[in-house]
Order: sequence, then structure tokens, then C-alpha cells
Amino acid sequence: MKHETSRPPVIPSVHGFSPGFAALGLEARLLATLDQLGYEEPTPIQREAIPPLLAGKDVLGQAATGTGKTAAFALPLLQRLAQGTKAQPAALILVPTRELAVQVGDAVKRYGKELRTSVLTLYGGQAMGPQLHALKRGVDIVVATPGRALDHIRRQSLKLAQVRVVVLDEADEMLDMGFADDLDAILQETPATKQTALFSATLPARIKSIAQRHLTHPVEVTIAKEPVKTGTTPRVQQTAYIVAKPYRGAALVRVLDMAGPTSALVFCRTRVEVDDVTAMLNGRGYRAEALHGGMSQPQRDRALQAFRAGQTNLLVATDVAARGLDIPRVSHVINFDLPSSAEIYVHRIGRTGRAGRVGAAITVLDPREERLLRSIERLTNANVTVAPVPSTADLLAKRLERTRAAVQEAMQTEDIGGFRGVVEAMAASHDPITIAAAAMKLVFRAQGGDRVEEDIPALPVRRPEFHQTMRTMPRPSSRTGDRDRVEPSRLSERPTGRPDRERPNAGMVRVYVGTGRHAGIRPGDLVGAITNEAKVRSTVLGGIEILDRFSLIEVPEAMASMIIDRLRRTRIKGHRVPVRLFREERDI
Ligand code: AMP
Repeated sequence: MKHETSRPPVIPSVHGFSPGFAALGLEARLLATLDQLGYEEPTPIQREAIPPLLAGKDVLGQAATGTGKTAAFALPLLQRLAQGTKAQPAALILVPTRELAVQVGDAVKRYGKELRTSVLTLYGGQAMGPQLHALKRGVDIVVATPGRALDHIRRQSLKLAQVRVVVLDEADEMLDMGFADDLDAILQETPATKQTALFSATLPARIKSIAQRHLTHPVEVTIAKEPVKTGTTPRVQQTAYIVAKPYRGAALVRVLDMAGPTSALVFCRTRVEVDDVTAMLNGRGYRAEALHGGMSQPQRDRALQAFRAGQTNLLVATDVAARGLDIPRVSHVINFDLPSSAEIYVHRIGRTGRAGRVGAAITVLDPREERLLRSIERLTNANVTVAPVPSTADLLAKRLERTRAAVQEAMQTEDIGGFRGVVEAMAASHDPITIAAAAMKLVFRAQGGDRVEEDIPALPVRRPEFHQTMRTMPRPSSRTGDRDRVEPSRLSERPTGRPDRERPNAGMVRVYVGTGRHAGIRPGDLVGAITNEAKVRSTVLGGIEILDRFSLIEVPEAMASMIIDRLRRTRIKGHRVPVRLFREERDI
């Protein structure tokens, strides 16, 4: 049990770099970059993976998106490249999708800024010319999807004979998408002496077999598989909102508006984020104070004091800064970022939920982090309800209700005698209801009820880019092709075999089910599973596509979470399979 103190702890990062990262053996320039990014301490996967990777060992890491795995492999990779001889390229990072290639490429560039490491991102759908040009000029690190990497290897524009480090990121996804042969072919081009790191959210037998073939005495690292000991678990109602990262701020504002917390702790991962969120909330009319390790002790004392005294009702903090503090129990804990581990999640939400009173924990997360949320849910034995972000209509209703309640309370508690006369005089020539409605409108406006909300688009469902899984399919011999489907009229095939589907119909989304034709799946198996388990009629379902390793089912958006939830709990042809919202940029 940690001793709670009433003063914020002294956080050494104010005076130097994060001791947590320094202890892992990272060099000063990387520490300086992490400091600028506002990282206060390593995440569990970073703590475990960085030392062996720095020592040149192969690593088999189990970690989902959101755990900080990118920095876990990128930081030691950058440090090792900076120390060794220059080769072009000296490292190859393989990722399953275009979106991830861009994201990982950006992250590696960010972390390698002080080391001046050059990074090139290669993925399908991008013009070849600039890629060829960049490869010719030479780069230190290539981040690529397997299909495009192989294209370049065959054109001899990508030469891997000098590669010192290879990373396979989200390896399970790469296998799910049918990249196994491509991976073998690519890895064959790399020297036997290279260092290899394989990261995967799950470690099924297929991943173990890849690891056996390509990794040498790997150190296995994993984030906790053991359930978290929660002690006396607070009674906390847990809700999550899944929103694409750029709209998290807007979603936070809506959620706060709906919840109307009397006192809330908003947790962020980095100092930079704490400052941004605090500024954004203050700009939206809230009273928010920041608390993080980049602030001086008196600044942090002041922020905490203001929160304790109720002068501010929102305290936006990093985990490190809030740790060990005697913060009064709060009505709401809000995770602006899903924390990187179950332990941190439990610690955060333990700040609310007094004995006898139910607290509320709200998490805003990116769709890519859903897997981590599910794992946290499992490890903490929690029940997190995924809810749609409140709509503008919900907000309007809530604000009207607040106005009504405020007026009603004034009727009972305020001395309104002096106003009666005014109303009576006006009522001589106007309808009293009209007078009351106009007065209500003014109250509503004064409460900020007419504030315009930032738009939050539905999660992007873009047209699929054709990719490996589709490419490995036999070419359709006719328009109906060889793809099993329920509604051929809603699908079409181009000569390339590329699906030419437009967006799903309005109000429909596609659900990814991680099993397909290789497992003998037929549309009827999926329809049966949904109608039996989710108790929905088959007529509400849209098109179904059965591909080699996965399938897609179009379902009404409003039912998607429920259907996903039920399908996850059921067995399809005797197996539990991954089920989630389909995101082309990741899944194809
Ligand atoms: P990843 O799991 O690699 O996708 O990372 C998830 C997010 O956590 C990214 O936005 C990173 O910038 C952030 N992140 C990674 N490591 C840390 C850390 N040690 N402290 C704070 N944020 C981090």
C-alpha cells in the first residue's frame, strides 16, 4: 500500500531526464527527445523490452497497440544504429497496413530526431517513383508493408544484405492478412546475423512458429497476463467511447457536458497532452488545472490546492504527477488516453467511487486501442460498457433539462417576489407561456446551452485498398467471382479482383470476423452465429464477404457493438475468433 502524502512528490524529471528511461540504458539524445515529448516514465513493455534490445538480443514481445510498443522497439533500434556503421538501410520495420506504416514511420522519425536518423515509409497505393528515388538516395530505416517491401526487393531497389535490425510489428495481423509467405521471402533476404524483434498482440501457434524460424534465443517479454489484484475494488461504473484520435478533444467536451462532474480527474499520458487538454478545456469554459512533472513544485502545489478547495473542478494530470497524492475522492475519473497497462487503469479508477457511492470512470480511446481495452477489462475483471459518443441532440436535451432544473430550483429557493410584478405587467399584453419560454431561453443561453459543438464524424469507413489477402485469392472467373457472399448485387469485382465496393450503406458498418474460407467458413455460418447469439433478424444484415483468412459482415451501425460483443463470446465452427469493427486502412 502506497503512503499517500499531501504534497506532490518531487519528480526528478523537472531537473533532469526521466530517471526511468535513463535506467534502461538509453543515451542522452534519446532522453532529451522523450523529455520534449513529455514522456514521464517508461510503460511496462518498454521497461521489459528496451534493455534486451539494446543488448542486441532478439525479442518476442506480446503487446497490443496503446501499450507503447512502438517506442519499445524504436528507441533501442535508433540507439544501436547510431552506434554502428552506416548501412543503407540498416533496419527494416514491417507492419501490416498503410495506416500503421505511416504511424510507425512518424513515430520513429520523432524519436530519432536528435540522432538525425532518416526514415522512409513504403506502402502500396503510393506512387513508385518517389519511393525508388528515396531508396536510391539511401535511408537508415525502412518502414514498410510486406507487399510493397517485396515489390522493391524484386525490383532490386530494396537491398537488405546490410540490414542489422528487423522488426515485425503486429505480426498476428500480418499473418491474419495472409502475409506469411511474404514475410518468409523478405526475411530470407536479410543476413543471418541480424537482430530480430517480433511484436504481436497475441501469440498463437502460427506466431510461435515464425518466431522459431526467424528469431535466435529470443527474450520473451509480455505485459501482465495475471489478473490485477484490485484489493477493495471501488464501485465504479465504467464507460468507454471509441473515437478516432483527432476527435478525442471534442468527444471529451461532449462527455463532460453530459456527465456534468462536480470534480473530475482527467488523466493523460504525457505532459504535452496535459497542457493541451487543460488549455482546450479552459477555452471551452471549464475551470481546469494541469498537474505534471514539468511544472515546478509551487505550481503543482497551487494546482492541487485549487482542486482541493473546489475552485477548479477538473484536474488534468499525468499518472506520475498524480501518484501518491492525497487527492480527494472524485466524482469522475476520465481517461483521455487509455493507460498502457491494467495496473495503471486500476490505480486511476480507484480515485473515484467512495464506499457506498458509485463513482464513474470514463475512457476515450482510439479504435486501434480497443484490443488493449478488452485486455484491461479481462485482467481487472471489470465490465466496461462501450457507448456511442453523445450526439448534439443528446447534449441539447441535457442542457434543456439543466435549464429546467435551474428554473425549478429558483422557483423554490429564490426570492422572486420582485419579478412577479414584471411578469404580471407583461402578461397583460402577452401570453404568459411565451414570456416564460423567452426567459428560459435567456437562462439557457447564459448557461452556455447554445454553444456550437465541434463535429465528430463517424469512424471512417473508407473504400478498401486492394491488398495482399485479396491478391492471393484466385481470380474470379465471372462477375460473381469465387467469393462467398450473401448479396452479390451489393458487391462487384474489377478485373484486378479488387473489391469495388462503395462505402457501406448509410447507417451500416462492416464487422471483421477473423476467420474465413481457409477455415471452411460459409456465409450461413456467420448469419447463423449472429441470428442465434445476437438475436437479430438476418434481414437487417447487409453483404457478407468471405475471404481467405477473414470475413466481413455489414451490420446496422447501431447494433454493431452488441453484435461484436456477442460474436466474441461465441464459437464459430468450434473456435473463438477475433471480431471487431472493420477498418480498411488496418485490415486490408
Ligand atoms: P503505441 O502502443 O506504440 O501505439 O503507443 C501508444 C501511445 O502512447 C502513443 O501515442 C505514444 O506516443 C504514447 N507513449 C508511448 N510511450 C509512452 C510513455 N512512456 N509515456 C507516455 N506516452 C507514451
